[in-house]
Order: sequence, then structure tokens, then C-alpha cells
Amino acid sequence: MVKAVVGANWGDEGKGKITDMLAEKADIIVRFQGGANAGHTIVNDYGKFALHTLPSGVFYGHTTSVIGNGVALNIPVFFKEYNEVVSKGVPAPKILISDRAQIVMPYHILFDQYEEERLGGKSFGSTKSGIAPFYSDKYAKIGFQVNELFDEDHLKEKLASVCETKNVLLEHLYHKPLLNVDELFAELMEYKKMVAPYVCDVSLYLNNALKEGKEILLEGQLGTLKDPDHGIYPMVTSSSTLAAYGAIGAGVPPYEIQKIVVVSKAYSSAVGAGAFVSEIFGEEADELRRRGGDGGEYGATTGRPRRMGWYDCVASKYGCRLQGATDVAFTVLDVLGYLDEIPVGVAYDIDGEITTDFPTTAKLEKAKPVIEKLPGWKCDIRGIKKYEDLPENCRKYIEFIEEKIGYPITMVSNGPGRNDIIYRNK
Ligand code: GDP
Repeated sequence: MVKAVVGANWGDEGKGKITDMLAEKADIIVRFQGGANAGHTIVNDYGKFALHTLPSGVFYGHTTSVIGNGVALNIPVFFKEYNEVVSKGVPAPKILISDRAQIVMPYHILFDQYEEERLGGKSFGSTKSGIAPFYSDKYAKIGFQVNELFDEDHLKEKLASVCETKNVLLEHLYHKPLLNVDELFAELMEYKKMVAPYVCDVSLYLNNALKEGKEILLEGQLGTLKDPDHGIYPMVTSSSTLAAYGAIGAGVPPYEIQKIVVVSKAYSSAVGAGAFVSEIFGEEADELRRRGGDGGEYGATTGRPRRMGWYDCVASKYGCRLQGATDVAFTVLDVLGYLDEIPVGVAYDIDGEITTDFPTTAKLEKAKPVIEKLPGWKCDIRGIKKYEDLPENCRKYIEFIEEKIGYPITMVSNGPGRNDIIYRNK
């Protein structure tokens, strides 16, 4: 069977921790979309890790970690991360890379930087990892799949053709140095050496694994609101963040995805530009940011401070619906223990109309949050293992939100570690 772990919101919900935890019982962990533009933070017995491309299952000896065809694969970044993990004492993980995964080319990163520079203040807040130019090229059919590294004549010819168009833009739009086909080819031959031992027909491998009764975990990046179709377009990422896309980005039948664990954090944070209805500012935001996550809410890839807000039931209900949540994992709840009262966004006021349905972007820009305040529990809930042992106000907070979003909260995370988890039978 296939399980997916995906985000309900803007990303940074704590998916890495939940995946790492669920990976204990899984055989195969697959990344199916996105690239090195976002990161998961994982704390376990080996230490604290920021993973960008490596699946969160790499810490277990029994799992195979797979890069699916839907991923934007930055080969040097991937191996740098791999080497870092191994150098910290983690046994060398078993890795497979789809022969259909496409490669983030050195010029994708350059184009990402140049375009952000060109847009100036109107930029999308890209992490400049080359993700948007990568996916543009993929759908313009001028991307490079991993298998193409192994056909040198074809590769050189295609590179020459692609560079011709790229160089026109570099010269006339960006006024930057031109690409050199021979240098690029040499770089790709280095990439080939790195990936060669791991290349695999991943969809075939996964389908065989399913026949053998293996458990596969699909690991999503970011969350529903960053999905290019269902998110806050255009302030979204370039590949689908939905569990449904796992079927495509890994190459498994959609009906095999039977469990969809949607991760939602007990308060909100977001990176990059775009409407963020329940956002808070000033000292209130600074305090939540400082106390948030595990050591503060700062980007795992960029280190930039995240935008902070209260829990948004409208966005999360929508986020769970589009993911098709069978389970909600409610995370980072321990952080809220300092508050006397906890504000929660329960509806949007759009030009005087109150709604709990998440709107399209232009309407979202006008939305004001309707806030209700719940009493805090004013204590540290880390270390608690049983739901009944949580303070009453804490349970009330969980149950209030569960009722508003309409999906079952079956896991409550009350600390960054693997064992900081409370299961609820629903
Ligand atoms: P991801 O991309 O969705 O995995 O999100 P992040 O990497 O930003 O994870 C959120 C941060 O919160 C990380 O630093 C985690 O170690 C931490 N974290 C995850 N779950 C919990 C939790 O229940 N409590 C606390 N305090 N921190 C958590």
C-alpha cells in the first residue's frame, strides 16, 4: 500500500518529522515533486539535519530512498547532502534515482537569479534554486531527463540547440555571460558519473514492490496553498504539492494511495510573497517566531525569517480537502504553551461577506480574518504520551480546530523528536 505525507498549508508544517516517524514502518520512501528549494528539518538520534532533496527515510537501514520522476534533481546538491548525512555517522542509505527524473541544469539556477533581479520588488520571492526555470523547460520540452546523460551524441546536439535560445535571452534580456556548450557537456559528464550507480526504472521498481506487499511512503514538499493549480497562484511553487500528484511523480497507480496524512501546524507560517490572511506582525509575531518550530521559524534552505500567523481554519480545511486527507497530523502544538489566549482564524470577511470557503487569489487579497480566541493551557506539554493526559484547554483547542476543518486529527506532535507524538484513535 502507498501512504502520502503532504502539507495542508504553505509548507514547513513539520512533514519531515512525520515522514521520518512513519518511515520506521515503511519499506520505500519516495520524493515525487519539487527540488532543493525547500527543506525539511529532522531531529533524531544522529543529530539535526536539514534535508532538501534526500527523502526523509534516509536515516533507517531498512528503507530504500527514491527520487521519483517528478522531482527537480540538482545532482551536485543531492550528493553534497548525501555525503553530509553519511559523514555524520548515518549508514550509507540505499538510493534509487528515476531514469525519467529531470536535471536542474546550472543555467536554471542562473536564470532564476537573473529573473528575480530583473523583477526587482515585483519578484516572487524565489529561493533561486532554479526550480521555476527548470519546470518551465520541462513543460517546454527542452529539459533533460537523467537517462539522456547516457546518450552522449544526442546530449551534445540537444545542448547546442538549447543553448542557442538561452544565449539570446542572456545577451539581450539579462545582459549576462553566455553559455558554453562544451563546458556544460563536461559538467553533465560529471553528473553522469555521480548518478550512474543509482539510476533505475522507478515506476517498474515501485509496481513490483507493491506486488510484493511492500509499504511505500510518498513524501511531499511544501503544501496545498503552494500548488500551482489549487494554491495562491501565482505565488506558488512550480510542481504540484498534492498527494494526487504522487501517483504521477512516482509512477504508481492513483488507487494505491490509500492513506493521506496531511500535516498542519498548530499556528501558521509562510515564506515568500502572497496573501496570508491570519498573518501577525510586530512583537506578537517575533515572539511566536522565536519560540516556533525547534529553534525558531527560519527557512531551512535560506535562513530567512518566516512570516507568522495564527491557525487559519479556512485555509487548512481547504488544504485538507484538496489533499484528500484520511488523517491530519497536528504539529508543533507544544510551542503555544506560553499564550494566555490563543487566537484562531475561523472565517474570512471578504467585502463584508463571511465565508469559510477558501477563495481565488484576487478575493483572498481582500480577505480579513474573523478571529475567535480560545483559552491557553499555560504549561509545557512535551513528554506527554496520551491524549487524555493533555491539559483540558489543549484538548479543547485540538477538538475546536478538528471540528472547523472537518478532518480527523489522528496524530498530535508535541515536540521535534521522533517519539514526541500522541496517537488518537478515530
Ligand atoms: P517541513 O518542511 O514540513 O518538514 O517543516 P520544517 O522542516 O520547517 O519543520 C518544522 C520545524 O519544526 C522543524 O524544525 C522541526 O524539527 C520542528 N518540529 C516538528 N514537529 C514539531 C513539534 O511537534 N514541536 C516542535 N517544537 N517542533 C517541531
